[in-house]
Amino acid sequence: AKKQRVDKVLSNLGYGSRTEIKKFCKQGIIQVNGKTVSNPGQQVDTDIDEIVINGEKINYREFIYIMMNKPDGYISATFDKHDPIVLDLIDDEYLVFEPFPVGRLDKDTEGLLVLTNDGQLAHRVLSPKKHVPKKYYAKIDGRVTEEDIEAFKEGVVLDDGYKTMPAELEILKSDDKSEIELVIHEGKFHQVKRMFESVGKKVTYLKRLSMGGLILDESLEIGEYRELSDEEVALIE
Ligand code: URA
Repeated sequence: AKKQRVDKVLSNLGYGSRTEIKKFCKQGIIQVNGKTVSNPGQQVDTDIDEIVINGEKINYREFIYIMMNKPDGYISATFDKHDPIVLDLIDDEYLVFEPFPVGRLDKDTEGLLVLTNDGQLAHRVLSPKKHVPKKYYAKIDGRVTEEDIEAFKEGVVLDDGYKTMPAELEILKSDDKSEIELVIHEGKFHQVKRMFESVGKKVTYLKRLSMGGLILDESLEIGEYRELSDEEVALIE
């Protein structure tokens, strides 16, 4: 991990406000690697330094798991030259853990995005061998039909020649502006949009509803996020 101020580390972990931590330093009840800390701005590396407060070794959390209701207009990456990124929406108290998005949603796609610093979980979830199902809601220009349901079940050929795996399409509303839900078990670039292109239709709005057994918490406003419970983390894969 990168170095951070000891007062920030401790307040992020819930040991008090920055002012309170400053007071603890004055009282001499904080030690880093056995040495009493007088300067609340002392830099510590949570990977290697041992912090003791009031005689008690503090317990760092290694991993964080966040669910976000991603807004339109944000890139799901940790850096972008031009556009806002999803990390811009996240508070410092979480950013210190250096989370990154598990997979990508397009800039204009909304809905469930998981962010974590658990690289192994991300790797497992994204592994093409695992086929973690992802469910989307979409608005479509054009009438979605029973034939499309069959075609998606069979697999459709995308513009680059790739044939998709069986996917489950459900029609919520079928007219010239259709609404659908679609479950896919892989994650090719722009997959949902390209699947509809292959049947001559255009996705005009796309939102991810779930990933594995993890369902977007609809009480999160667009752009909001919260930590996942352990049970929810286990549902992802
Ligand atoms: N499929 C898409 O086309 N876009 C996304 O963001 C996700 C799935």
